Amino acid sequence: MSETSAASPAAPETNPLLVAWQTPHQTPPFAEITPEHFMPAFERAFIDHAAEVAAITHDPAVPDFDNTITALERSGKLLTKVSAVFYDLVSAHSNPSILEIDKELSLRMARHWNPIMMNAVLFGRIVMLHEKRKELDLTGEQMRLLERTYTRFHRAGAGLSDDAKARMAEINERLAHLGTSFSHHLLADEQEWLLELGEGDRAGLSDTFIASAKAAAEERGMAGKAILTLSRSFVEPFLKASERRDLREKVFKAFTARGDNGNANDNNAVIVEILALREEAAKLLGFPTYAAYRLEDTMAKTPEAVRGLLERVWKPARARALADRDQLQAMITAEGGNFALAPWDWRYYAEKLRQAKANFDDSAIKPYLVLDHMIEAAFDCATRLFGITFSERKDIPVWHPDVRVWEVRDRDGRHQALFYGDYFARPSKRSGAWMSSLRDQQKLDGEVAPLIFNICNFSKGADGQPSLLSPDDARTLFHEFGHALHGMLSNVMFPSLAGTSVFTDFVELPSQLYEHWQERPEVLQRFARHYQTGEPLPEDLLKRFIAARKFNQGFATVEFISSALIDLEFHTQPASASRDVRTFEQAELGKIGMPEEIAMRHRPQQFGHIFSGDYYAAGYYSYMWSEVMDADAFGAFEEAGDIFDSATAKRLHDDIYSTGGSVDPEAAYVAFRGREPEPDALLRRRGLLDTAEAA
Ligand SMILES: [Zn+2]
Repeated sequence: MSETSAASPAAPETNPLLVAWQTPHQTPPFAEITPEHFMPAFERAFIDHAAEVAAITHDPAVPDFDNTITALERSGKLLTKVSAVFYDLVSAHSNPSILEIDKELSLRMARHWNPIMMNAVLFGRIVMLHEKRKELDLTGEQMRLLERTYTRFHRAGAGLSDDAKARMAEINERLAHLGTSFSHHLLADEQEWLLELGEGDRAGLSDTFIASAKAAAEERGMAGKAILTLSRSFVEPFLKASERRDLREKVFKAFTARGDNGNANDNNAVIVEILALREEAAKLLGFPTYAAYRLEDTMAKTPEAVRGLLERVWKPARARALADRDQLQAMITAEGGNFALAPWDWRYYAEKLRQAKANFDDSAIKPYLVLDHMIEAAFDCATRLFGITFSERKDIPVWHPDVRVWEVRDRDGRHQALFYGDYFARPSKRSGAWMSSLRDQQKLDGEVAPLIFNICNFSKGADGQPSLLSPDDARTLFHEFGHALHGMLSNVMFPSLAGTSVFTDFVELPSQLYEHWQERPEVLQRFARHYQTGEPLPEDLLKRFIAARKFNQGFATVEFISSALIDLEFHTQPASASRDVRTFEQAELGKIGMPEEIAMRHRPQQFGHIFSGDYYAAGYYSYMWSEVMDADAFGAFEEAGDIFDSATAKRLHDDIYSTGGSVDPEAAYVAFRGREPEPDALLRRRGLLDTAEAA
């Protein structure tokens, strides 16, 4: 391995990040890695990578695909390896030393990448190849890689004047720093807050909820107590169930104030600076706005196309939410409540209304949604669709004792991937749920099997009880596992095209599509079993559960689209318009007629999707763009009359889950479905089609 050959023979390398891993499947030896290993490893990785790139630019041979594009794909192996381990820890299991390194590293990383992405000689070689790409006799995947590489360098500013490049480099460095600050602030605000639930504060809360609150207390060295944290998987069920209106208000306000408390963790100034710098960068690159810049390289292509989709769904969703609001208010009044529905009341009364109308509430189904059984269900669906099988491995090093690892084998029993599942909330973990990799699939120099992980924030069962999921949690589990499949089933040549390396507005298709199987009776009947009695989910409860899925969709859609629209406005309007973030937020919500009783899913100050980095910046709409496809895609199985239909599953595997970024996403979708997605499928899935026709 190249990273070991640079070590001096006189001093054997002791940094575990710099030697070949002797673990099973060459997995990271987490127990041996300590924070002080990272900076020296990164320094070495930067030097190696820079030398590899210099070798490409100094190559006297005429540029060709192999000596330029393939050589770039081969470069930076050590950097990729060390980064994967480090960023896994930053998000899933950090500590003050790791966070300190993260702060320092964001700047170092920008300083390393800037001169590569803006290297004029390197870009000259890429441009030359790109111009004569038709004559190069490339495979389809090679052609896609050349186009993606050209686009990546071009969009990073490789073709700009020296002055513009210098400014661009400064902007990138500053943005890297600001993105890191944003997420550190948010984590700190979440860690600093907790609410102790005394005996008198528990009215309405289920036993399983209290058990989780006790487990959370134990995690923080407060054994015997019960606490609420600002994790979404605590806050939302609490707001649904707590009969204490005063506590609901307190929790709601703390949750929506994260990053907006005027303390050292305040994100308002960070946002203002990020937006100004993004706008400046977009203009340097010749775009009128940052949104125009970002969206050029997506399926949507333009801000107008994004706005078109969001507004089409907004109208019926808002109409539905307003009608629901009136019903909730009527319920309060009928109960003798002398107050107007407030945002901290919505979930509580919506849940009551659901009980009244559908005779169903989350806590009725929770005892049937055992985490381990739902993991089994997610695996079983993958086995039936794609033939892959799972067996747990206890010998793979992990970053925290709660993490579990499974070996994934293909239908012929060959090793395909390792899957790491890290399911429980803890103080060292960021909120939310995500998928990422410790190593991506590729076969440039022999087959490399991927190491894929899922991180969730479910609450643990206390006192040896199993962890029980809410319906939302169960859906999240399948969602993230859908992303994991995208990584594990990847079958491409080049690492930069592997798995989820696709457009942001395509990347949620494999994940959201997978959610469909979770809510099917065929799956629930087998895997939703009572945690104490082992009884399967009663038929009647199952029916009510499925019917209840369309309940409160006005609310869910409104909280999502308002966030997506504000993201778009932040990046479409001049940055000077949002110098006061709160005022901007209020004004924009006013313009779209946001119901006062509903809050955005992510207020700007906690909107990590768009401010912790740029992945979802001007791109939060992506979930809905992908939903147009996933709602339509599942129809292929329904039309086949079998949700595991093997011919349809084979196309899904061959055209969507295994192709990564090696094909154009529109072409991939059409290859799978035989046509473009039908847009009304999304409204139908959300139960909003009748409102759309009436609106
Ligand atoms: Zn996702």
